[in-house]
Amino acid sequence: MVQLELPVTEAQQMLSACQDKIDVSSTEGYELFISQLKEGLKNTSHETAANHKVAKWATVTFHLPHHVLKLVAGAIVSELKKINLNVAALSVASSIMDRLSYLLSSARPELGVGPGRSVDRSLMYSEANRRETFTSWPHAGYRWAQPDPMAQAGFYHQPASTGDDRAMCFTCSVCLVCWEPTDEPWSEHERHSPNCPFVKGEHTQNVPLSVTLATSPAQFPNSSDSSDKIACYGFGSCPQFLAAATKRGKICIWDVSKMMKVHLKFDVNPYDPAILRQLILCSGEQGQQVLTESRRPTLTWLEESSSCSDLPKLEGDR
Ligand SMILES: [Zn+2]
Repeated sequence: MVQLELPVTEAQQMLSACQDKIDVSSTEGYELFISQLKEGLKNTSHETAANHKVAKWATVTFHLPHHVLKLVAGAIVSELKKINLNVAALSVASSIMDRLSYLLSSARPELGVGPGRSVDRSLMYSEANRRETFTSWPHAGYRWAQPDPMAQAGFYHQPASTGDDRAMCFTCSVCLVCWEPTDEPWSEHERHSPNCPFVKGEHTQNVPLSVTLATSPAQFPNSSDSSDKIACYGFGSCPQFLAAATKRGKICIWDVSKMMKVHLKFDVNPYDPAILRQLILCSGEQGQQVLTESRRPTLTWLEESSSCSDLPKLEGDR
């Protein structure tokens, strides 16, 4: 079961597309989807009628099985692509598809990146996915044609016998090889395919990296292990810094004074006796009045760990 919140404007775009532009009513679970959409919009219009500030942040919430959301959003995307109109719901539905692919690891599709393999074009609407195809991009020294700007300009990398730097657009049919050191991805895209809907800034399936990142759960930056999510955070004596830690002892300090950026990263062993002792001392200081022999301080973030039996014995822990 998935809980999905859509801002009211996006929910309205979805409703108007489903009612006026396309017919996806034969899709499994459509009735559930549309009734929650209508109900949600009705509720928020009551709540927000008197208050514009509330209205700005109001959302419509869906509670639907993963496969139902995926089927309905997928049907909306494919029907809107067929009618080929500049409709905002296309971006909304494809960002739902992108988000769903990260929720279940079994639902995470293979991009098809690697030597001799063929990239799955149907997944290239996501900038994050396009970025991943550039692992063997041959022009590391070029000024503009670098993986990030290439992916932002709609390209993914699909080497072929015609060129090891073959780049294709996720939405139009442009296919470019033999990139020059001074080529700029957006202007090349525009020059070779001026009618591409993405170049023209129309509503496309494109899901920008910022949307993918903004809808992801908090986790350690550049962590290879996506299951090691942030478990606790806190402010210290410096208001411009925010510290967060994962269960396995990765610690990150963000500078939040302007735009949030990583200031410092390091690892500790959360089972280190020195750290455990410090934690006990800290909680002892804070709770001295209530601390009795029967109510020892507990380390809640360690309790869930499967390796609790490996914990070193603490002083006085008999
Ligand atoms: Zn294009």
